[in-house]
Amino acid sequence: MIIGAGLAGCNLAYQLALRGIQTLVIEAGNSIASGASSNPVAVVKPFVTRQPSDAHDFYAKAFDYLLRQLASEHLRNRVPFKQCGVLQLTHQQYPNNNMYQGVSSETATKLAGVKIASNALWFEQGGWLNPKQYCSALLTHPLITVQLNSRLINFKCEPTHCTLEVKTDTATKLITTPRLLLANGIGLHRFSQTEDVPITPAKGQLSCITNNVAASLTCVVSGKHYVIPDNQRLYIGASFHRNDESLHVSEIDHASNIDGLQSMGLQTVLSNTEQSQQPEGFTGVRATTPDRLPVVGLLPDFNFYREQYATLHKGYLPSKYPSAKYLPGTYLLGGFGSRGLVSAAYSASLLANQLCVNSALSATTLNSASNCEPKLDTLETWAALLHPARFFIRNQKRNQ
Ligand SMILES: Cc1cc2nc3c(=O)[nH]c(=O)nc-3n(C[C@H](O)[C@H](O)[C@H](O)COP(=O)(O)OP(=O)(O)OC[C@H]3O[C@@H](n4cnc5c(N)ncnc54)[C@H](O)[C@@H]3O)c2cc1C
Repeated sequence: MIIGAGLAGCNLAYQLALRGIQTLVIEAGNSIASGASSNPVAVVKPFVTRQPSDAHDFYAKAFDYLLRQLASEHLRNRVPFKQCGVLQLTHQQYPNNNMYQGVSSETATKLAGVKIASNALWFEQGGWLNPKQYCSALLTHPLITVQLNSRLINFKCEPTHCTLEVKTDTATKLITTPRLLLANGIGLHRFSQTEDVPITPAKGQLSCITNNVAASLTCVVSGKHYVIPDNQRLYIGASFHRNDESLHVSEIDHASNIDGLQSMGLQTVLSNTEQSQQPEGFTGVRATTPDRLPVVGLLPDFNFYREQYATLHKGYLPSKYPSAKYLPGTYLLGGFGSRGLVSAAYSASLLANQLCVNSALSATTLNSASNCEPKLDTLETWAALLHPARFFIRNQKRNQ
């Protein structure tokens, strides 16, 4: 059972379906992609760093994975992926990379169709898509069932199964499942068992304007803000307000998006906009983590961690400590912050691989898991980046 039908939950359901595993996706909203994934547009571009880093490698893998997924037979006709390329404006030198090409402002101007004042990285394979359409395509599979207007309010997991308390419009029901997969965005840490996972909500707003020079912009341009062209419409994103979960569309955020675009030197794309035009606004709340990387994997037993790892700050050898314990059958996939589109598919595939391994080892086998062949990419490879207890361990080491 998967909780949440956003980019995370839909990708996880799809990955499990590819492995022959049946899922029920429980969604609190009255439609799929009703949380952070509800924006009409999102940029497909990896996060890159100038110095070599694990985060860079992770997003490179994730970007490559997403591109291959979008080109797959199941998705290519179902998801209108506008692969128009993305320019990331930069004043600094980046090392060569097969994901992008460093270009001068003249080349960037030719690529964008409008004046670009600075050098840039050109992600030729990048572009944008509509997250809801993507989610809908992922859920279009006979092994996936979706139940809307249903909110998980509590759960308890034992070695053989989890019991969930799910509230619908008319009743509260108890449901049992062999595996509970939490992919519920800003709700991820709102159960007693998950409250040590540091998720901070961060509101974001996109502003959409219409004008007749918009069509001359031929690719996505990103910097501190970004602009996505869709014929005569320009989507300008996105504001960022930590600890704000309100969904109201704000004039201040429209102004800061438009200022942001101007500070990127892109005033020409706004030049024909009527002064009186009121931008259309779209809001959503991201689930962010302190290191801006997602949390993926089994749910740690934080009480066990507290008892056993309290002396980590004293610097004893790791062999002094017992192996970590996890809550049986409960997994997390979340904390995607501002980069969920590019990282959810790969993260879900890693988690699905782990579920396959664990179900093969477990006494309660998922009989339908017929396609769980060993995979090269494992969650263990990325444990230092994605482990749900990494913040807890870091804090213990610092004695915080
Ligand atoms: C304005 C804005 C612009 C963005 N632009 C980009 C971009 O250009 N590129 C990019 O890569 N990313 C972008 N992002 C980030 C991206 O949208 C998110 O990272 C992604 O949508 C997170 O997906 P999710 O499935 O983890 O969370 P969500 O989409 O929030 O899904 C969680 C779901 O769980 C449901 N839920 C919550 N609690 C419960 C419960 N107890 N029971 C049942 N259901 C529950 C919610 O209703 C929701 O539908 C943007 C985000 C915002 C807000």
